[in-house]
Amino acid sequence: MKYDRSFNFSAGPAMMPEPVLEQIRDEVMNYRGSGMSVMEMSHRSKAFQQIANDAEADLRTLMGIPDNYKVLFIQGGGTLQFAMVPMNLMKNGKACYIETGTWSKKAIAEAKKYGEVQVVASSADQGFSYIPDCSDLNIPDDCDYVYICENETINGSAFHTLPNTKGHVLVSDQSSMFLSRPCNVADYGLIWAGVQKNVGPAGMAVVIIREDLLREDLASYVPTYMSYKVHADNESMYNTPNCWAIYCCGKVFRYLLDMGGLTEMQRRNEEKAAVLYDFLDSSKMFRGAVEPKDRSLMNVPFVTGDKDLDAEVVAATKAAGFDNLKGHRSVGGLRASIYNAMPKEGVEALVAFLKKFEAEHK
Ligand SMILES: *Cc1c(COP(=O)(O)O)cnc(C)c1O
Repeated sequence: MKYDRSFNFSAGPAMMPEPVLEQIRDEVMNYRGSGMSVMEMSHRSKAFQQIANDAEADLRTLMGIPDNYKVLFIQGGGTLQFAMVPMNLMKNGKACYIETGTWSKKAIAEAKKYGEVQVVASSADQGFSYIPDCSDLNIPDDCDYVYICENETINGSAFHTLPNTKGHVLVSDQSSMFLSRPCNVADYGLIWAGVQKNVGPAGMAVVIIREDLLREDLASYVPTYMSYKVHADNESMYNTPNCWAIYCCGKVFRYLLDMGGLTEMQRRNEEKAAVLYDFLDSSKMFRGAVEPKDRSLMNVPFVTGDKDLDAEVVAATKAAGFDNLKGHRSVGGLRASIYNAMPKEGVEALVAFLKKFEAEHK
């Protein structure tokens, strides 16, 4: 392979598209005649303003973001959003959460610090191996929002139908599925995504928020940095933003547009995931950890059912040049994260390896 790069199945930080890395390399010493790298540039400079404006414009085109939504680039990664969401959106002090795995559990624990949290659906009874029916939830009238983790990175489940929120605001953590398929932004009040899963370098979240949810009247203890309105009013430049992440993410947005946009990404992701799922469904040694109808296209946990054998497979994949296939300790087994930037050849090579492993260990 060019550059001797490995097939990296990491859940995040994860692979980025090679053409994007090449562009970044080519611009790192002198960004387009500016005499400096983007890392060394004032965030108020013309060159960087252009980078940030283009990144936002390209993301808006890619997702078809309506004009009454703000796009914010906020530091603190994904985890800060667990607190920012309730701090900003809990007007009545009450929110409904759907519990589908590790990341929604974290969101629930954090939100409880700021108000009343009702868990209106959960798949904890089956070890988070499915998405509960959310067509008729018991949502109180004064609930401020309904929260989902749309793709559970660790457990490997994804919502393929959004919950019926009965008119309440829907908030979604899209971190590990952001830009993997078309998204009707108008279905949501707020979408957020930590970018190191499916877009760029770690340390930043993209927040897409409907304008009427921006609030002036936040509690006096809310730190200035934690107000969505402050970020919106200052076009994500209230303080020095994560310039490097904005620059890299902007390149990925442009790349995805050039590749044909999110419809094309969905086509590729479905085709790619099918290579692995079809193998798991036909294998006698391995099985997928999630109900087929709720499977993620991005994160594929699978097990042999025998801890020692799992460990042997992980070690064998590593020795064969496949990186980061060890499953999360809470699920065990293996997990292949196959985000936008993972080529289909990477999944095909992995499946060929697993087939051979299975044949040799009958
Ligand atoms: C990784 C991840 C997070 C946390 O992101 P950090 O940037 O590490 O704080 C939150 N939600 C989901 C779904 C994730 O995959």
